[in-house]
Amino acid sequence: MLEKPFNPDLLYNRVVHFYMDKKGYSKDTANSIAQSVVKREAQKRICKNEKCKHFSHDHIRNSETCLVENCDCVKFYN
Ligand SMILES: [Zn+2]
Ligand SMILES: [Zn+2]
Repeated sequence: MLEKPFNPDLLYNRVVHFYMDKKGYSKDTANSIAQSVVKREAQKRICKNEKCKHFSHDHIRNSETCLVENCDCVKFYN
């Protein structure tokens, strides 16, 4: 299954609203939670190949050759 491209802003907003609206947290608390969630989700999607470090959605089927110009990576490392 193909992952949608990672959208940090959308995720950030969703998390902030969730914690403020559903959990009743303050804006500051919700913002700091959102920051750590976005950071963690971004890390999961970044290729661990030192020469690559592009997102999984830059790789064919999220796991094969990286499509970023001039990148030699042929497999997504997680
Ligand atoms: Zn790459
Ligand atoms: Zn890669």
